[in-house]
Amino acid sequence: MYSLVINSGSSSIKFQIVDPNAGAADAPLVSGLVEQIGEPSGCVTVKHPDGKEVAQKPIPTHKVGLQEAFRILDSKGLGPTQLDITAVGHRVVHGGMVFSEPELIVDEVVEKIRELIPLAPLHNPANIDGIEVARELLPDIPHVAVFDTGFFRHLPPAAAVYAINAEVAGKNQIRRYGFHGTSHEFVSSQVPALLDRDPAHTRQIVLHLGNGASCSAVANGQPIDTSMGLTPLAGLVMGTRCGDIDPGIIFHLTRQGGMSIDEIDNLLNRQSGVKGLSGVNDFRQLRAMIEDENQDAWMAYNVYINQLRRYIGSYMIALGRVDAITFTAGVGENDRFVRRDALDNLEMYGIKISDERNAMPNDGPRIISTDDSAVKVLVVPTNEELAIAQKAAKVAARM
Ligand code: ADP
Repeated sequence: MYSLVINSGSSSIKFQIVDPNAGAADAPLVSGLVEQIGEPSGCVTVKHPDGKEVAQKPIPTHKVGLQEAFRILDSKGLGPTQLDITAVGHRVVHGGMVFSEPELIVDEVVEKIRELIPLAPLHNPANIDGIEVARELLPDIPHVAVFDTGFFRHLPPAAAVYAINAEVAGKNQIRRYGFHGTSHEFVSSQVPALLDRDPAHTRQIVLHLGNGASCSAVANGQPIDTSMGLTPLAGLVMGTRCGDIDPGIIFHLTRQGGMSIDEIDNLLNRQSGVKGLSGVNDFRQLRAMIEDENQDAWMAYNVYINQLRRYIGSYMIALGRVDAITFTAGVGENDRFVRRDALDNLEMYGIKISDERNAMPNDGPRIISTDDSAVKVLVVPTNEELAIAQKAAKVAARM
């Protein structure tokens, strides 16, 4: 039994065929990527148990891209209609105030996702493209939408409401929605068992540090705060996004810098963060530059760590008592320096990392704090595709 997981972007579709009962570290049966949709040259890459197929050809539409991917899979006996696929799970970025739980996709659900486009003008239309094409190509399999905002749908109002004019905020649906919810839920739900604790009495901070980065405070299974906001631009310093900045900077750039709103959007989303300060957004490159004593790389790293510590500190106060701090995603799972520096010198708050445990390779969930550390520090690999596969399979099984 498998789930097909689809993450459709504006010019790309990522997909996996996943056994929902697999372990978090197991490789998917199939993973694939359709790239450069709508551009003169396109590419479909499919990784399967016997190797990898690459087809280079123009991909005018999402439909052609998915058809091409399915053609490759069919030729390997791994086509969606050849395998026992019980559900198609679609990652949908914005569920607004409408969706918290995964939703079986019927026409009305697509319409509601469409109504949320003003909240995610880049993401939701691309997600809808993926849903429509996949429903057309696989009409007999249940399709399920899994929302990136879902886990944070019921944040306490004091954490979700922005202190801007309530009427304007209401009219424009402005509030903190939070993103990466599938990952925060997947990771935080594993922590109690790893610590042999009751989930109903576990207070934790989750640091999802990938190219995009966010953190959350989770009390007894429920998130009480998260760093991303109306959009995924807020919060931590990221690979290319600025994270929290003074909103006055935007007026300054408009009035004094002569920049348009689109230019500022591009600047803050794609040319800022670690890349904006150092020229690179990959932490492996950043580390190599730091080792070469590159001052820009060093500055970028220090700004990144400083912001991370600000959030950790504020979530410790929000939670009152913290049982666990967990690192996940590309940087969080692999970069021991980031983990060390994020929590350095916090012994007086009961946080002590073991250098030896922190240096262990990334091969599954593990505790990296010392035995006498009151707050346990963990690394728990995330697997958003597996989480979506599981949620989709569960919804489909109810039918
Ligand atoms: P996303 O899903 O947001 O694209 P990932 O969670 O896959 O991101 O994280 C990607 C980032 O993880 C890379 O840009 C890189 O900075 C970092 N990364 C991956 N492997 C390593 C490693 N071995 N050491 C340090 N950083 C790493």
